[in-house]
Amino acid sequence: MRVCSVSVDLDPLSCYYGIHGLGTPAGPLADVVLRRALPRFAELFERRGIQATFFVVGSDVEGDPSGRAQLAKLAHGGHELGNHSYSHLYEMARLDRERIDAEVWRAHEVIAKVAGEAPVGFRAPGYDVSRTLLDVLMARGYRYDSSIFPSWPYYLAKAGVMGAMALVGKKSRSVLGDPRALMAPVEPYRPGNSPFSRGQSTLVELPITVSPGFRLPTIGTYLLTAPTLVRSRLLESLRGRSFFNLELHGIDLIGADEDGIPSSLVAKQHDLRATLTHKKRALEATLDRLALDFRFAPLRDVAAEVQREGTTGH
Ligand SMILES: [Zn+2]
Repeated sequence: MRVCSVSVDLDPLSCYYGIHGLGTPAGPLADVVLRRALPRFAELFERRGIQATFFVVGSDVEGDPSGRAQLAKLAHGGHELGNHSYSHLYEMARLDRERIDAEVWRAHEVIAKVAGEAPVGFRAPGYDVSRTLLDVLMARGYRYDSSIFPSWPYYLAKAGVMGAMALVGKKSRSVLGDPRALMAPVEPYRPGNSPFSRGQSTLVELPITVSPGFRLPTIGTYLLTAPTLVRSRLLESLRGRSFFNLELHGIDLIGADEDGIPSSLVAKQHDLRATLTHKKRALEATLDRLALDFRFAPLRDVAAEVQREGTTGH
């Protein structure tokens, strides 16, 4: 049996406002991801007996007691809480070591308190890593990083959007990641001097899954809004993998109508045009399909397996 990890990056709506240069979300929209989307994921995983990994933004839960209570309950139920940095700065990997350490450690302390145990996994904002960032994670006792997303089509699309915004004088808070990540291994590996190639680090890199050949993105944002045939072909092409790292975002289970998302954001964030019902069904179909070939386990279990045996699967 092969292994699939399902992870959900709990980026608050303010991240999307920042990417699209829309300022800050008003009032109840600030915590809409934790308040509305998180219970939907929890219920869906519960029904399938899936233990997932939730990547938490430290500053987002620090001042949100009900968000923290939900996450604590998930952690006690066997889900993993991972570190998604304190303030979700897209340029985090390029900061100096001291500031990177502060971003990791402040979130670490918040999450450890909520979960009742120290997080061992990290996902970088915007998929961008650096050697310094991995060094900080190792010094802080982390087992794994899961930020490498070696997808050419995703990278080019992001460059296109950012270029178009720059042309009309709009500033995105997003950062175009290091292009060397596009050549990184697609299976789990121990990074070396470069975070993008194999080496001897104690820390394991668990890349986000892309399709064979064109390295098409198979993250939630695409899978859940793609035509059914495209989705099933993508999943079909990955049946032979020993490890499937399915990355979702909190916003994947947000509905523009159901959750009162303003049309200014829906116009920019295309996946919000799909209805919540559609995305939920697509996620259920995806998980059912994956369950035929994979057993589900949180990323920390896969990292432990790779550290022990040097590989996943049999
Ligand atoms: Zn994020």
